[in-house]
Amino acid sequence: MQEPTDCIFCAIVAGRAPAAIVYRDEHVTAFLDLFPVVPGHLLIVPNRHAKGLTELDADAAARMVAVAQRLAAAVRRSPMPCEGINLFMAEGPVAGQTVFHCHLHVLPRHGSDGFHLGGSFLERLNPGRDDLDTLAASLRSALAALE
Ligand code: AMP
Ligand code: ZN
Repeated sequence: MQEPTDCIFCAIVAGRAPAAIVYRDEHVTAFLDLFPVVPGHLLIVPNRHAKGLTELDADAAARMVAVAQRLAAAVRRSPMPCEGINLFMAEGPVAGQTVFHCHLHVLPRHGSDGFHLGGSFLERLNPGRDDLDTLAASLRSALAALE
């Protein structure tokens, strides 16, 4: 896909916008989030523009996860407090995506960071085995229909 001229993450990858870059290679770039939810909040983006996970090519997706692993290890070795890590990715406004260049959030966590995975994530549905089996069958069909 051609790089959109108004994409802030494309501008960061191209060096046209400022960012605190932590890592870059030919496939991905990682930098500190400008408005972090916890100290050390990182974003990993593919260098080639893709709107979200569905559009991302599989090699770039694999690279993003591999770099998240490396960054997690680096954060744990660094002086900043880190007792755990959350990864997060949103695709689409309904899921909370606000920048439409795919990105993986890496959140270093520690006991008193004040960040809460609250609300809906902790309030679970209870669909029952039959509903789960029906949904799994439908998703297996959709998977089989992919090229
Ligand atoms: P999301 O809501 O998942 O789309 O996340 C977008 C993230 O991009 C948010 O955490 C923002 O704080 C972050 N962000 C937006 N603009 C910039 C920027 N210029 N540099 C670094 N991070 C940014
Ligand atoms: Zn972009």
